[in-house]
This record gives sequence, C-alpha cells and structure tokens, in this order.
Amino acid sequence: MIIAIDGPAASGKGTLGKKLAAHYGFRHLDTGLLYRAVAKALLDAGHSPRHQARAVAAADALDPAHFDDVALKSQAVGEAASIVSAIPEVRMALLALQRNFAKAQPGAVLDGRDIGTVICPHADVKIFVTATPQVRAGRRFAELTARGESAAEADVLADILKRDERDMGRATAPLKQADDAHLLDTTTLDIDGAFRAALALVEQARR
Ligand code: C5P
Repeated sequence: MIIAIDGPAASGKGTLGKKLAAHYGFRHLDTGLLYRAVAKALLDAGHSPRHQARAVAAADALDPAHFDDVALKSQAVGEAASIVSAIPEVRMALLALQRNFAKAQPGAVLDGRDIGTVICPHADVKIFVTATPQVRAGRRFAELTARGESAAEADVLADILKRDERDMGRATAPLKQADDAHLLDTTTLDIDGAFRAALALVEQARR
C-alpha cells in the first residue's frame, strides 16, 4: 500500500507521515530531506543552490542512509532546498529513488509536494495537508526555538509565504492538491487530532 502525503511547509505532513508509518509498520520517506540534502551539499561546498550542474551531481550522489536530519532541518537549508527543487533535472535525478522506495512491502508512506501528483499518481490514498500560514509559522517557530536556533516569528512567516509562492509557482511539479486527494486542514487540530483524521482516511481506503 502507498500513502501519499503532500502539503506546504510546516503543515504537519512529516509528523503525520511518521505516525501513519509507525501505526501500519510501513517505511516512511520525508522527501523534503532529499532536496534539503542536495541544497546542503551545495552550500557546504560554497556553491549557489541555483547551480544546475552541481545540483544534479549532488542529487546523483545522494545517500539517504547517511542523512543528518538535524543539520538538514535548518531554516537556511530549507530556503536553499526550495531553490534547488525548482530545477527540473534535480527532480528527475531524485525520481527513481522515490519510486523505488514507494514499492516497499508491506507499504510505504511518502510525504512531500508532488507525491500524489507526480511521484505516485496511483497511490492507494492521497492526503493533502494544509493549515493557515500563520499557524504553520507558529509551529515552525516553536520547532526552531526548541532546537536552539534563533529566529523572529515574523521572519519565519515571511519565509513560509515565500516558500509557498515558490513551491506553488514553479513550472515543474508545483505544489498542488491532486484531483483525487483528500484535503486535511490541520489549522485547528493538534497532532493527535490530525493523526486520527488521517487514519480515518487511510482506513476508508483500505476498506
Ligand atoms: O518539506 P520540506 O520543508 O522539508 O521541503 C523543503 C523544500 O523542498 C520545499 O520548500 C520544497 O521546495 C522542496 N520539496 C519539493 N518536493 C518534495 C519535497 C520537498 O519540491 N517532494
């Protein structure tokens, strides 16, 4: 079974994906980490995230087994990830890895921006997770400060709005709800509430 979860930055899709995978004993791939790892490799080497050839080379050399999740989750890497992810050749270089992951037995949960639309258009269940930009910024701010990163909440909101615009406006695989995806608005839900709502959608698909 393939569960595809898409949505904008800090909508809660990663947490949901992790919880659903744990519940069903499925493997989980946070595909944002792939783009973040490509971006971090470029930044670490002193290159611009807009450098197409170097970005594709970094995508080809990616080894998800050695990801350092904490370093990848920084605000700066997220911003650079949104730039590299707009390069069609980078998306192409990461396609096979994601599709192979989706074949995992007994099932896989993938979360990102284009899972239901491009990576796994035939997923058994698709969930598009949203929340207002203000609520998402509040969550991201809490996450960053808990990790000891200093940030102003207004800057986090500005970053989220900029990323929404870039992710939805790009020509290749833009962030959008698949026609057959269920919309899950987590604006007024806590993690448990969002998980219960998502579980109900998956159970409905399993029946
Ligand atoms: O989900 P996360 O915030 O970690 O993703 C970082 C960036 O990677 C996003 O802003 C988006 O531009 C890009 N991304 C993407 N396609 C995915 C996952 C992430 O374009 N499937």
